[in-house]
Amino acid sequence: MRELNCTHCGKTIAADDQSCPHCGMPLAPHLRKSPQRKFIWWFIGIVIFCAVMIYLLPFFGSTRFPGR
Ligand SMILES: [Zn+2]
Repeated sequence: MRELNCTHCGKTIAADDQSCPHCGMPLAPHLRKSPQRKFIWWFIGIVIFCAVMIYLLPFFGSTRFPGR
């Protein structure tokens, strides 16, 4: 895990931390790993989930309502 020094108290903190566990100072955004990247992976996951559901829903529908 990548480690950084807190800009406020100078103690070592994990790069993944949102704020310093020693003094509670929020990490400067440029020090932190980009949260945008995590968001993109969430977005990709949701898109894949939706695509799978759109593909599978007619099958679920036909098994639940065989008459239709
Ligand atoms: Zn600190």
